[in-house]
Amino acid sequence: MFEKQTSVTPFANKLEVELYLKSEIPGSTGECNESGIENLLSWLGTAPKFTTFRVNTLVSAANEVCEVIARDLHKQAATHGNSLAVYNVAVHPKLPDTVVISSFNEADLRIQEREVIVDATCGAAVLRGAHVFAPGIMGMPTGVHCGDIVSVFADTVGQCKKGYQKPYVQGCKIFLGNGIVRMERKHLYAKNLKPVGVAIEMTATVSGCPVIGPDCLSSNLALLQNLPSILCGHVLNPLQNEIILDMCAAPGNKTSHLAMLMGDQGVIIALDKTESKVKNIVKRCQQFSLHSVHTFVCDSTRSVKKISQPCDSEEQQKLVLQGPPFIQESFDRILLDAPCSALGQRPQLANRITVNQLKSYPLLQRKLFHSAVSLLKCGGTLIYSTCTVTHEENEGLVLWALKHFPNLDLVPAVPVLGGPGLKGSGLTEEQRQCVQKFGPPLVGSDCDIDTIGFFIACFRKKSTVDVT
Ligand code: SAM
Repeated sequence: MFEKQTSVTPFANKLEVELYLKSEIPGSTGECNESGIENLLSWLGTAPKFTTFRVNTLVSAANEVCEVIARDLHKQAATHGNSLAVYNVAVHPKLPDTVVISSFNEADLRIQEREVIVDATCGAAVLRGAHVFAPGIMGMPTGVHCGDIVSVFADTVGQCKKGYQKPYVQGCKIFLGNGIVRMERKHLYAKNLKPVGVAIEMTATVSGCPVIGPDCLSSNLALLQNLPSILCGHVLNPLQNEIILDMCAAPGNKTSHLAMLMGDQGVIIALDKTESKVKNIVKRCQQFSLHSVHTFVCDSTRSVKKISQPCDSEEQQKLVLQGPPFIQESFDRILLDAPCSALGQRPQLANRITVNQLKSYPLLQRKLFHSAVSLLKCGGTLIYSTCTVTHEENEGLVLWALKHFPNLDLVPAVPVLGGPGLKGSGLTEEQRQCVQKFGPPLVGSDCDIDTIGFFIACFRKKSTVDVT
């Protein structure tokens, strides 16, 4: 029996969050009315059908990586006796460093007698193609042994206690797929154990996404990354020997892309306010042997020096390498991939966000934007992006920015893969076409559309008019 992918209602604070979204996403004049919100929520509850890798173009060509991935996926399908799995692995037509895997996976997904329960975060990762790692397992009945085939379910309400050993019948669970047990109870729950590693090797999932094991690719060849996130780097379009700022950079996925686009020539300053996260940027850059990235722990709302200090470009480069705070107009291009409510992540199986948390982001985003405008050189490019779907954090931020910074122009974000900004959001038709929005009302079964919810706006700084 083949189980189709199920969509769940993602929000624990369902009524509160839905009411907020209905009130703040334009309705009467735009496309996002009540049924629009329903569509949005059901879209968020399902996993995208496509998997994308960004290739490390410093060491390999995208078509070579396609071949490696295709070979590994077919080998894996044969090992799992999954003869119906069909994968199409190809370079994206507009992004030459991006590999897209589309799957037409009609795997045998009969529900097994033995079941394992995982938490919602692990469940979402499984639907995107991950194996089940030990920390994600909540319940495993006694009598399940290594080598057994089990069905894996996600607990979407967070009620299954760690170590639960009976079949989990209460609460809400959704079927994710089947896999082979690699760690049993004694490996998972013995006293003082902090198990790591793959506990269930997934063989097929209801989302149809290929299962991407750690051994699928040599780690420096490519990085799993969502399509709009890869697009961000291309829209910023950093050039060799420029001075670039990535203001909210951890874990460094976009930073490493910027370095590759620049042939690792130039200076990239990568900031994040959390020290442990900055370590992850360093690790990501080591993974790809990148030397142009310089990391600093910094609250980017405080990254601008109070006094300005005119200097030539050589001196400017020396000064930025000393770290924040920076003098105004230090950077050729800036990426502000802002902290956001992340409502565009798919699939969302259980989201505990509250309306107060939702409302807290725009203020922080505006403060970060203020710093970005100060630090950008005249003629420089600023990309603002989020992985969320709220109006206030996306089109609303653009409207606010255009009102408060007369020295900024909104320019087309190219190349174009996404849809325009929302109708009724206050942006003019021309402005709507400049930004790129991923998510409803634009839905479909194309790799550019069936991805995560995301927003990208591109600004150019025109003169030294004082900012307010
Ligand atoms: N650009 C990253 C990538 O592609 O890998 C993802 C960035 S994530 C959307 C936002 C990041 O902003 C988080 O790592 C968070 O720690 C950081 N952050 C939040 N507030 C910040 C602040 N005031 N200054 C600097 N970083 C901040």
